[in-house]
Amino acid sequence: MAVFYRPRRLLYPTEGLMYLWAMEDTTPQRTEVGKLGEFGLIDRLTAPFHPSQSSTIKGIGDDAAVLDTGGDRLTLVSTDMLVEGIHFDLMYTPLKHLGYKAVVVNLSDIYAMNGTPAQITVSMAISNRFSVEALEELYEGIRLACEYYEVDLVGGDTTSSNKGLILSITALGTVEKDKVVYRSGAKVGDLICITGDLGAAYLGLQILEREKQLYMDQPGIQPDLEDQQYLIGRQLKPEARKDMIAAFAHNGLKPTSMIDISDGLASELFHIGKQSGVGAYLEESGIPIHPDAKMMALKFQLDPTTCALSGGEDYELLFTIDPADVDRVRFLPDIYIAGEIVPASDGFTLHTTGGKRHPLTAQGWNHFG
Ligand code: ADP
Ligand code: MG
Repeated sequence: MAVFYRPRRLLYPTEGLMYLWAMEDTTPQRTEVGKLGEFGLIDRLTAPFHPSQSSTIKGIGDDAAVLDTGGDRLTLVSTDMLVEGIHFDLMYTPLKHLGYKAVVVNLSDIYAMNGTPAQITVSMAISNRFSVEALEELYEGIRLACEYYEVDLVGGDTTSSNKGLILSITALGTVEKDKVVYRSGAKVGDLICITGDLGAAYLGLQILEREKQLYMDQPGIQPDLEDQQYLIGRQLKPEARKDMIAAFAHNGLKPTSMIDISDGLASELFHIGKQSGVGAYLEESGIPIHPDAKMMALKFQLDPTTCALSGGEDYELLFTIDPADVDRVRFLPDIYIAGEIVPASDGFTLHTTGGKRHPLTAQGWNHFG
């Protein structure tokens, strides 16, 4: 429902409602959200829900929900929200780029199911800080993404916010019934594969944050972004791996499990491990990192591998394959074999280039931390 610069009318006197709530509240405990973390919170809140519809094939727990609405294709649904000040900073994010990225991060989840996106809806909450022209810029980015990825904008919602911009996009897609790939299909002995390169978007963000800080300290100063096109591009204008899904189809490859890398490689590997009931042995030398990202990590005195493991926003794909399928990926450009699935009892290990073995820790973004 859209409420535009107009407070919603209360149906009941507030005091009455508060009295009712007080009556129901038999366990006046208070647990901080930060204690559970993002995924712990989702698990706890959704535990009492059990799908009752036969059309719900996969509910919570994957990149997209999977629905069987009849016919030979399954329907995929995924939603993501971007909040100003948390996910983006308009001091260095052009609205056109923001619109494009907001679409891409949703489509990435549809591709992560081995699916093809078809439609999006766009919901936004805006403050009066935004002019019509500014919002047209945002929508131009959305339109460009729709055009490139061949999806239709079919609806949404518009409402007001006290402060800042909130964007929520839902993507719908489809996948052939026997082609859908879940996070839960990895088997012991499967090879771990990664597309593209990791850590660059995080380093792009570090550059933008540094330049913002310099600008705030000395407003006249011009940002020095000239030679960092690649890293900044990876942060401001990511792409989803539509091409990889096409390459899988072309090569007759069906990964055993797949997830998109939005929160960092380590966090995503843990999701595959948890959903599949397995562990992972990851080779540091197999993690693809762009030379520009390596250079910039060193400039920031960061470990490039840590940037890849925990940086996030790469929107690459992490997937596993049956070793019998290795020839189907071996010569595909931009796919790297980086490890092996092991029994859950062996846990998650990083084999470093220095020859050491370290337990891997999940360091995804904890927005509530
Ligand atoms: P992704 O990073 O692929 O977008 P998330 O990590 O955001 O996925 O979400 C993991 C799973 O939890 C998904 O199945 C998502 O739909 C579900 N989920 C996230 N937030 C909520 C929520 N507030 N209520 C119900 N399900 C949620
Ligand atoms: Mg995802």
